Amino acid sequence: MTPFPASPAERTRWIVQARDGVPRVPVEATRPAAWIIETERQADGTLAEGLTVFLVNRECPWHCAMCDLWRYTTERPVGPGDIPRQLDVAFAEASRPSLSWIKLYNAGSFFDSGAIPVSDHAEIAARCTPFKRVIVECHPALVGPGVVRFRDSLAPGTRLEVAMGLETVHPGALDRLNKRITTRSFRAAADFLHSQDCDLRTFLLVRPPFIPEADCPAWLERSIDFAFECEADPVVLIPTRTGNGAMERLLGMGEFSLPRLELLEEGIRYGLHQGRGRVFADLWDLERFVAPGDDLEGRRALLETVNRDQKLARGRESSEVFMPGGRLASGGDRTTPAEPERFSRAGGRISREAAKLRKSD
Ligand code: SF4
Repeated sequence: MTPFPASPAERTRWIVQARDGVPRVPVEATRPAAWIIETERQADGTLAEGLTVFLVNRECPWHCAMCDLWRYTTERPVGPGDIPRQLDVAFAEASRPSLSWIKLYNAGSFFDSGAIPVSDHAEIAARCTPFKRVIVECHPALVGPGVVRFRDSLAPGTRLEVAMGLETVHPGALDRLNKRITTRSFRAAADFLHSQDCDLRTFLLVRPPFIPEADCPAWLERSIDFAFECEADPVVLIPTRTGNGAMERLLGMGEFSLPRLELLEEGIRYGLHQGRGRVFADLWDLERFVAPGDDLEGRRALLETVNRDQKLARGRESSEVFMPGGRLASGGDRTTPAEPERFSRAGGRISREAAKLRKSD
């Protein structure tokens, strides 16, 4: 098997070649890939219902090792007017007039003009008038004046939130993911968003490739800490999955192993203990991450409760408290894992949150 290349250009070739045999999901430019109504805890503590729309457009120009969102994209750019039409379809099918927020997830970056024509921004903003909050996703490199123009086109009182994938702060892994960001560039984009009165949502990978498994808990904590330092709220923890060809290859090379559900549980518990913002766990495909005989449904229900309430939950049939590692115990503090040997600031999904919903649709 060819080793994972050192240079970004060769990595991109390697990642794209690894797709061989992985099919695209059929999508059309005239309708969204999916939409879903969700309830999410807001920063002010209230629960609010909203609509997530998975827009269809051209593939993202980055080729991250863990990303399978290209499967939900078109091979050619969509035309002017297609994205507003997709929103019209979602609104008509959802038929729910009084929703609080909307996520426009496009399997890439909203501010990538090759994906979402800039000429459509005004129409999109007009359709978002009923919502108090508009959430879009974007690669940090594309956070700039386009964000400000779109923010200004939203109705007065509608806040813009930008979701960026930080993935991990492990410098070597962040580099090898091929996202072509560093913690420094991520922080600069986060600072820009805050300076423009926009909010930041951050995606982190639970068990990224290229990190020894034993070091993953400590690096996840470092990553959560860094996301909070960048004033992310919420932080979304996404178990890294196979399914794009590249991850299967990395699994075969020993560069990756499927995350254990315990690590997701540990991450959300650690994040909530910091008291610095909301932490959500991505719950798609949880069955992949448990051992046979584990209480999958009980643990899923507990995580759903934690996601909703944003506090550590009690077990269903006991007074015990949700603990990392899937264990239930009577309380006490977490055990601090060993510190990573190195930590450097120099050193990045549909979002997966989106992918899970596409898959379940
Ligand atoms: S993870 Fe994000 S930036 Fe990377 S290829 Fe996927 S959509 Fe693009």
